[in-house]
Amino acid sequence: MSDSMAIYIHVPFCRRKCKYCSFISFDSRTNDIPGYIDLLKKELELRSVDCNIDTVYFGGGTPSLLTAEQLNGILSVIGKKYRMADNAEITIEANPGTVDFKYLADIKTAGINRLSIGIQSFNDDELTMLGRIHTRKEAVNAIEDAREAGVDNLNIDLIYGLPGQSIDDWKENLLTAIGFNPGHLSLYALTLEPEESLFKEIESGKLPDISAGTAASQYELAEELLQKHGYVHYEISNWAQPGRECRHNLVYWQGSEYLGIGVAAHSYIGKRRSSNTEDLDKYINALSHNVLPPQDVDEIIIPELEIAESIILGLRLYSGISIKDFEKRFGIDIMKRFGRQIEELINFDLIENDKTVIRLTPRGRLLGNEVFWRFLPDKV
Ligand code: SF4
Repeated sequence: MSDSMAIYIHVPFCRRKCKYCSFISFDSRTNDIPGYIDLLKKELELRSVDCNIDTVYFGGGTPSLLTAEQLNGILSVIGKKYRMADNAEITIEANPGTVDFKYLADIKTAGINRLSIGIQSFNDDELTMLGRIHTRKEAVNAIEDAREAGVDNLNIDLIYGLPGQSIDDWKENLLTAIGFNPGHLSLYALTLEPEESLFKEIESGKLPDISAGTAASQYELAEELLQKHGYVHYEISNWAQPGRECRHNLVYWQGSEYLGIGVAAHSYIGKRRSSNTEDLDKYINALSHNVLPPQDVDEIIIPELEIAESIILGLRLYSGISIKDFEKRFGIDIMKRFGRQIEELINFDLIENDKTVIRLTPRGRLLGNEVFWRFLPDKV
């Protein structure tokens, strides 16, 4: 185990389920929040290790349903049972419609120093289509309230590739977001699973199908516009002003260690990957008896898989994979071990190799999955 780590805390409660949601979140269990907070604290105590905590991330669900006092209580336990780094990055995901100026000022006082707002769209018709609880006005208010409360490290999440969304609709969303000068933008293509209600609306013909071609053009437009406005495209779906990269997410992409707390939370510590049960009742039941929750995943990462994952995660980053660092970490010449795949991908204009670094090309960033599977152990 290394001497520093990230902590992810999952808050699986939402006011209402969005029509495209594939996250572990429950819309009829908000009464469970106070008891759940106590169990999060208990899990933090049971899993405590003598380790520096560089980043804490409250994700969901809708973590902004937690009060400032509840957040403060959780951070106090981390402070007591672990070693919180002086400059720790502490992020909360917040949804418009659940926050106001006072709340944002209070959570800042509680120690939150990075806010990630799930705007998704500034267009009321798109927000209704997605089943979000908020309007454009509430989205704008949330950002303005955050600024007024002194939040300077701000991320805005947007979704593109929506049914019927034109390039101009997307451009309007992007330019509105850029107008607020956020330090960070996360842009995700809409992906749907058959059980989601938006998928069913498309299937039934109520909504037009998603156009992969339009989504690709929207992504390219984002690359162009954000570069023009000084943002660095540092990860496939993430752009930041210099110095505003999300330190917590970099932990995942760089293959460093993290501890997941809460229902469905994943951990990666000492070459072991595990995840808490996705069943809220099982989670509550176990910790109510002072026992750690059952694990849905508990596996030792074998070297072949660690190598494959480090390539896949490394390629997600614009900085790519340093050939020298890779050899230092694994004792392997990546060009010898994966020469065939790399050659093929260069021919397809999906990756580039400047002799020191291997990284995705712009086309590769659009078609990442076409690249990644080739490095999995059973494909090598
Ligand atoms: S706010 Fe996020 S987690 Fe909650 S239902 Fe919507 S998409 Fe899912």
